[in-house]
Amino acid sequence: MITRHFGIPVTSPGAILRRERDLGTPLGQETAEALRSGGLVSDKIIIELIEDWLRLHGGHGFVFDGFPRTLPQAESLMSMLTKLRTALDLAIWLEVSEETVRDRITGRLQCGECGFTTSSSSAQFANRPVCPYCDGRLERRNDDDLAVLQTRLQEFHTKTEPLGTFYEKMSILHRIDGNRDRDAVFADISRLIEDKTAK
Ligand SMILES: [Zn+2]
Repeated sequence: MITRHFGIPVTSPGAILRRERDLGTPLGQETAEALRSGGLVSDKIIIELIEDWLRLHGGHGFVFDGFPRTLPQAESLMSMLTKLRTALDLAIWLEVSEETVRDRITGRLQCGECGFTTSSSSAQFANRPVCPYCDGRLERRNDDDLAVLQTRLQEFHTKTEPLGTFYEKMSILHRIDGNRDRDAVFADISRLIEDKTAK
């Protein structure tokens, strides 16, 4: 939505890794299993991928979704940007309650073949649960996912939460209530980006 609205390229570690996997690179194959099972890919790999992406696509602004998630990632990003003589304008923190996360996970459909995920409330997939990328079967995620969720929440508290303070100190942190629908959240994010690009 951000790319369409503002013409700013957006990426996430997940998107970069899926592309690596589709291209069949050794790295893509190595990390595909971790992605499927909801596991984590090491900081080192994520940082290298982001750095490559930035060099190729980051010349005229960029947005990262789900990066950085750890302090080492945040610190590496700062040194990359220093090298590229680029400033970080905004850090947007989507605050989402555990309850919302749980609801979204249990309402999610995932392709058993390629790992593509979508919401079961998405009308497009409600009638014909077939993956748009590989024709694999879309299945409701199961209790394993809630176990993975527990691990993720733990990781979030220990590794990601400290980033709030990190970006607060830089005075670029904005917290947004992410428990609302997509459009309301997008409107808030748009306002923040507009404020920055207008200056
Ligand atoms: Zn698929």
